[in-house]
Amino acid sequence: MGPNTPLIPVLAVFGLVFGSFTTALSYRLPKHQSIARGRSKCAACGHELGPADLIPVASWVVHGGKCRYCRAKISARYPAIELMTMGLFVAAGMLVPDMNHLLVLLAMSPIMVALAVTDLEHKRLPNALLFVLTALALLWRGTGDGDVVTGSLTAVLAFAALQALDALVRKGFHRPGLGMGDAKLLALAGLALSVQGFLVFMLLAGILGSLWGALWRWRKGEGGFAFAPMVVMALWISLAVPEDVLQSIVTFSSR
Ligand SMILES: [Zn+2]
Repeated sequence: MGPNTPLIPVLAVFGLVFGSFTTALSYRLPKHQSIARGRSKCAACGHELGPADLIPVASWVVHGGKCRYCRAKISARYPAIELMTMGLFVAAGMLVPDMNHLLVLLAMSPIMVALAVTDLEHKRLPNALLFVLTALALLWRGTGDGDVVTGSLTAVLAFAALQALDALVRKGFHRPGLGMGDAKLLALAGLALSVQGFLVFMLLAGILGSLWGALWRWRKGEGGFAFAPMVVMALWISLAVPEDVLQSIVTFSSR
């Protein structure tokens, strides 16, 4: 039982609401549609959706995963993203005792889910999302040990190293290396995490990425796989789990 346990039901509700916002982010951003303007519409019939149609998860379940107006099938991505975000909100409340860090992680979670989804669906990491996540990573550092200078240096050096590695892979092996968005996403973790925490994060991203890559090749064959879902998972875990605990788990599992 953490200090934030009484908050859990509230976090669950907020998680669902922000999950609904996340579906809009991940649907509209890659299509360059405004997040703020325009009401939600059915993608099939264009009917404007009222408040009763936008209740997270419940609307989808009640109408059997179909549009209430035209009966077109509505993708399970909507309730899946909403439940995912709710799960992250609740887990954050249980894992992060510090209120400042909890709030920053809650703000980061929908952005991270949206990045994972846009990478899976469009092979893209919108710069707007990366920018907001960068600002939140700085805020995390600022409300933590406050060593923003070390954080910035770690991020810049990591980005340069990843770019160099990427060029080497492209030139030497004639294979598509790491995408620019993935490099930015990996590097920005350096802003939030201590140097040691960042190294553990990179190791964790590598472990999750190889497992995910193997699964991807088995299911979908060769071809570039979406790495960002594993990077955001590694980052979320690195932020939520105490550094020393995570380090002993990760170094043990990679031995
Ligand atoms: Zn419809």
